[in-house]
Amino acid sequence: MTDCIFCKIAKGEIPTRKIYENERVIAFLDISPVNKGHALVIPRKHSEDLTSMDDENIAAVFTAAKKIAPALMKATGATGFNIGMNNRKSAGQLVFHSHVHIIPRFDDDGLKLWSGKELKNETAKELVEAILKEI
Ligand code: AMP
Ligand code: ZN
Repeated sequence: MTDCIFCKIAKGEIPTRKIYENERVIAFLDISPVNKGHALVIPRKHSEDLTSMDDENIAAVFTAAKKIAPALMKATGATGFNIGMNNRKSAGQLVFHSHVHIIPRFDDDGLKLWSGKELKNETAKELVEAILKEI
């Protein structure tokens, strides 16, 4: 896509802090990191979100994340990492070229990505039934 910023990064048309690339994916540091070493992995081929990605590119993005995450931890001194993907506007997606966030985590860094609420039995039952019909 011509006016997609991540397509431009993938083609080398705009500068980025590249940390990894292969024939299918490229990874670079997020310009607005939520923690030190926050990086993004994107497929070179444009797709808007997970649901329109080729299976091969999904595998390539996660295989790259598996390789990159330990390097990010070693380089930053992080002791863990989160993998995240925002899909569509209501989920906070801002760049509509599929990408996976790798967020290094440090003991007691105070970052709260998910705040859990108790899942009630009745809700769980309804949800499981509804999801099983759709899968
Ligand atoms: P989201 O679509 O919500 O998953 O977020 C897009 C992410 O891309 C944000 O964390 C931005 O900081 C990051 N971002 C946007 N433009 C660039 C860029 N040119 N280089 C690196 N990261 C970027
Ligand atoms: Zn794109």
